[in-house]
Amino acid sequence: MIFGFGKKNKEEEDYDDEQDLVMFQGAFSGAEVDFTEHARLVQVGLLRAKELITEGLERRAERIRIEPKGERAVVQLIVDGVGYAGGRLSSKEGMAVTQVLKLVSGLDVKNRKSVQKGGIRAEWDDRKFLVMLESKPLQGGAERLTIDLIDVKNAKYSPQELEFSPAVMEKIRELTSKPGIVIAAGPPGSGTTTTSWAILRGIDSYVFASFCFVDPGHRELGNVSKFDRRSDATLDAELVRLTRMEGNVAYIEPLNDAETLNTAMEHTGRLSIVSEMTARDAPSAVESLCKLSGDPAKVASALKGVFGQKLIRKLCEKCKQPYRPNPKLVQKVGLPEKTQVLYKPPSAEDGADIRVCKRCGGSGYLGRVAMLELIEMTDKMKEVVAAGKGSAEIKQVAREENMLNFKDEGLRLVAEGVTSLEELQRAFRAS
Ligand SMILES: [Zn+2]
Repeated sequence: MIFGFGKKNKEEEDYDDEQDLVMFQGAFSGAEVDFTEHARLVQVGLLRAKELITEGLERRAERIRIEPKGERAVVQLIVDGVGYAGGRLSSKEGMAVTQVLKLVSGLDVKNRKSVQKGGIRAEWDDRKFLVMLESKPLQGGAERLTIDLIDVKNAKYSPQELEFSPAVMEKIRELTSKPGIVIAAGPPGSGTTTTSWAILRGIDSYVFASFCFVDPGHRELGNVSKFDRRSDATLDAELVRLTRMEGNVAYIEPLNDAETLNTAMEHTGRLSIVSEMTARDAPSAVESLCKLSGDPAKVASALKGVFGQKLIRKLCEKCKQPYRPNPKLVQKVGLPEKTQVLYKPPSAEDGADIRVCKRCGGSGYLGRVAMLELIEMTDKMKEVVAAGKGSAEIKQVAREENMLNFKDEGLRLVAEGVTSLEELQRAFRAS
């Protein structure tokens, strides 16, 4: 209280009303923000912006999108990869919220013509969050805002936290134990960066010295050292320096361009290189690498393996419902024959208790787990890749050689009751 005892003044009442709202604690970049210069904007947009972020946090959203559409701004919340409608905003409110969040992140409010990225340190419900945003210009001076909400303490970075199976852990260690390239590949937004990061964290740190060449952002480094990269040096020069330092593993920028890929391949005589790339799935990633480099034989010898991943929602442990599956269905989808019980979210038709589960908010799902596939460069695979074959042939060899694949991984998760058949089907449809 500022004015001491007695009746609360207006300001304090307002404060009480807001106490459950998210608190902003400064720009992630550390930039000092001058609010006085934008007092009007703060007055118009700040409370609405906090309400919106708070709603996202309450509903466990990992992402909020604000997209101007005519007279309105459409708000979408993404919870465990599934989109839900968020609160309504007028186009004016949408713009004010976007601008005020840019301001608090230390971004340039006056610039609406280029993509900007920034973040805000925040606290809500005694937990620390990062509110990371990206503003993208649209036609007519409008902007689309994408906000990622990251629970700092509970964010998952290591293979254990991501619940990688022992088989996957073993593969990571095997593939990174000798020089060569190991990649996580997937479509944008599929968690590729998280998987590539987990591969890096999964490397045996007692044996190998791992270095991160990119800005880790909010990610924890664990046993990985940050490589002090000189701004005027090329990637090639820095990889040479790492080799001289007797480093073993470099985590470098995405291999989405020929220059980065070819540089990385130059160093696979001495280093393990972990990275990521954008591709539909792992077989397509291998095909793209060959096209990008123009030298399939070189890719075949430099590459160790490519992991692909799909994220799948986990059933809520509190409200999931067991049922006995039809044996014909079990056989048809390829589940183990002895499967007696599967699980699914509660539904009123089954006469389940339909009071909304507090833990998952009634969706029946809580959190996600990654299904992984792996293209491993066995002798047969090397042959096919070096010959410049496409993703269909690569997939075929992977199947023949019984490599880790989405279908088996997904069915294992269904059989273990981690997820439902419906969700598995949705995850395959969604990609
Ligand atoms: Zn539940």
